[in-house]
Amino acid sequence: MTGIASIAEDVREGRVDAAEPARAAVARLREQNGGPQGLNAFLAALSESEALALKVSSDGGRLSGVPVAIKDNLATVGFPTTCGSRILEGYRPPYEATVVKRLREEGAVIVGKTNLDEFAMGSSTENSAYGPVRNPCDPTRVPGGSSGGSAAAVAAGIVSGALGSDTGGSVRQPASFCGVVGVKPTYGRVSRYGLVAFASSLDQVGIFGATVADAAELLQVVAGHDPRDSTSVDLPVPDFSEERDTGAEGLVVGVPTEYFGDALEPGVKASCQAALDMLAAGGAQIREVSLPNTRYALSAYYVIATAEASSNLARFDGVRYGARDSSGKDLGEMYERTRTAGFGREVKRRILLGTFALTAGYHDQYYGRAQRARGLVSADFEAVFGGGVDVLFTPTSPTVAFPLGERVQDPLQMYLADVFTVTANLAGLPAISVPVGVSDGLPVGGQLIAPKWGEKTLFRAAFALEGAVEAA
Ligand code: GLN
Repeated sequence: MTGIASIAEDVREGRVDAAEPARAAVARLREQNGGPQGLNAFLAALSESEALALKVSSDGGRLSGVPVAIKDNLATVGFPTTCGSRILEGYRPPYEATVVKRLREEGAVIVGKTNLDEFAMGSSTENSAYGPVRNPCDPTRVPGGSSGGSAAAVAAGIVSGALGSDTGGSVRQPASFCGVVGVKPTYGRVSRYGLVAFASSLDQVGIFGATVADAAELLQVVAGHDPRDSTSVDLPVPDFSEERDTGAEGLVVGVPTEYFGDALEPGVKASCQAALDMLAAGGAQIREVSLPNTRYALSAYYVIATAEASSNLARFDGVRYGARDSSGKDLGEMYERTRTAGFGREVKRRILLGTFALTAGYHDQYYGRAQRARGLVSADFEAVFGGGVDVLFTPTSPTVAFPLGERVQDPLQMYLADVFTVTANLAGLPAISVPVGVSDGLPVGGQLIAPKWGEKTLFRAAFALEGAVEAA
């Protein structure tokens, strides 16, 4: 699989038939996705003849003919949108997410919808009602989550780019587990219209790329103001690839000590340290910094995310969307039976936790406190960036991909997989995971975090990091 820009150029210049890249992607998908040892990364996909029959325009779009995969919590016309849940089995939205529309307008071909933890709740893609996804680097291990299907699709070389969503790390953590690039933009940079809401104040659409350039290329197309999402911000979108060759010279890279503690696997730590040495060799100035309120982040995240989820998921009641169990005697029983049968265990756990956190009498003790902790986490970042740090470097996840089944029975262990990624969501900051090495034969991701609207610096650092790792 080649880079996104070159696929589009080949199509535009007529060197390759416009439908061919998508047909080839679908052929790879058919080979790798199904069967007992298959990836199970896709919940729906085009057939080869459908791909060939598509009227793909080659008339100059930035993504002419480029095959792309979409996480199945983004509304698409032409495929169901299930959120990995029984409650939305077969549901076909009558409209399309803005990000998907923008991809198509630039000539991209949506080849399929990718598997995910139900309603994006999870860190391993084992919570899907349609079975777990396997990690292409080692099929006995998880791909990370919740956008595990998108990460696996890119890591397996089925597509060069895919969309996911990142509420607490669901793009960066699976990117790290699968050895690909994953970026979460600044909150408000990308439209959430058509993204099924999990925790609206934290959710952002994110991008997977086989390389930093591929991720930048897709983000360039989907970013920007959308009047249909009142939280999307009307700011100019910079050219993310402009500083592709600037390198690390003079870049001030902050290293927060709180992210390098005992929770970190030694192999992950070693790869991250080596990456920092490479950045320093490239002229970056490495500076140790402290983000002291990091210790509150994970608890605050799980209170806020579950509280918002309990409210957002109230709409799935069998009346307007998807499945309905009408065997009960009245409306109340219909709601109850539909939700009991339609939601999986983790989703129910979150709805219960969130409802509890918002209960009158407990509201301030849980939700109020979590919001105050969120403020402290944001203030930590502001202080560090205000003190002259351009970008922060941390591990993306404390571990490499863990074995399938290892953590499903232990939600707290599962939640710990997000300990380094939730902070950027709480503070609304842009962050990216870039492959930096291998530990026990499995990929390790390094995370870069930039100030709000600082994607240009983020990408400059990411290109420099990727270049340094490749040259090593
Ligand atoms: N793993 C985290 C959770 O379970 C993050 C999910 C996400 O980013 N969608 O909430």
